[in-house]
Order: sequence, then C-alpha cells, then structure tokens
Amino acid sequence: MKIICIGRNYVAHAKELNNEVPDEPVFFMKPDSALLRNNDPFYLPNWTNDVHHEIELVLKIKRLGKNIGKQFAHRYYDEIGLGIDFTARDIQQKLKEKGLPWEKAKAFDQSAVLGSTFIHKSEFGDLKNISFRLLKNGIPVQEGNSSLMIFNFDEIISQISRYITLKIGDLIYTGTPAGVGAVGIGDRLEGFLDERKLFDFEIK
Ligand code: ZN
Repeated sequence: MKIICIGRNYVAHAKELNNEVPDEPVFFMKPDSALLRNNDPFYLPNWTNDVHHEIELVLKIKRLGKNIGKQFAHRYYDEIGLGIDFTARDIQQKLKEKGLPWEKAKAFDQSAVLGSTFIHKSEFGDLKNISFRLLKNGIPVQEGNSSLMIFNFDEIISQISRYITLKIGDLIYTGTPAGVGAVGIGDRLEGFLDERKLFDFEIK
C-alpha cells in the first residue's frame, strides 16, 4: 500500500504558512514504513528541532482505479479515518527554499499516525460536514471540518488517479486545517472524529 497526502487543502492553513492557495491539489507521498498505529508513542527524531502536528481526515481506498471521474470517485472509498501528517517544519522550510523534494521532512519513520478504526461513510450525515479536532495536553489546538476543504474527497481521488493508480488499501491524507504547531517530549495528542476518539498517544 501507499500513502498519498494532500498539501494546502484548507485556505487558513495555506495562509498560516504563507503558501499560495493552489488551483489543483498539491500532493506528496509517504512510504508504508511511516505508519504509526495502535497509539504507540512517537519518538522525536534527533535531526529536527521543529516537528509539527497536522491532523487530517484519511480516506481508505477500496477499489483499483486509474483516471477516475469525479462523479465516480465515491465508489472508491467507504471508510474515513483520522491521522496526523507529522512534518519536520525546519527541514521542510530548507528544502522548499532550495526547490528540493520534501521526503526528508514528510516521509520519515512514524510520520503517518493512523487512528485505531475507520468509520463507514454511511455513519456521517453529510461527508461535506465532518468535524474533527486535535487536543494537545487536553487543549484543542486544531479544529477542522470537511466543509472547509478546497478540494473535496471526490476531487482529490479524481485528480490523484490521473497520475497514479490507486489500489485497495491505499491511504489518502486529505490535508490539515489551520493551527499546526510543534510537539515536544511529554506531550499527549488525542484525535477526535466527530465525537469519537480515534487516537491517544504520547511524544517521547
Ligand atoms: Zn499534511
């Protein structure tokens, strides 16, 4: 399986990092070795001083597809989960300045947190109104809603599949809302999809 992540999919987040709002989705990838599950602790790497949390809704692909039309994209996923796209912001900034790829800042081990379960899309009243939030040490630091996405789930799937074949089990991290910030040793991160807690782990 592969992990595809969307960048700059919320206007307020693009602005907080002084990035342009894109007219088609920006995406990048993480390897499967980046996954962090089962509420295992995240160990801060020693080569960065600024790891940021980015909470994101995650789609799980259920069918093989290439060049998927927007109107058919809903057939390619049933389940929605919650994760964190950990980002070494200091490293990413240096890479961006040099026009280099982002993998060192985005694809490292444990950088793709995934919640304990996925929720079937039929359990949401409206896929364009899914709320989610991240608590750091009990305090809300990021609050998002799928209504604020620049590219919705179907547009994301359609666009990615123009370039990359989607396969069963692939994960798509759909971008983070505003409020990203650094994590430090001893922090506790809890993620909620609507009112369901899907992860709860510590930074070590
Ligand atoms: Zn992200």
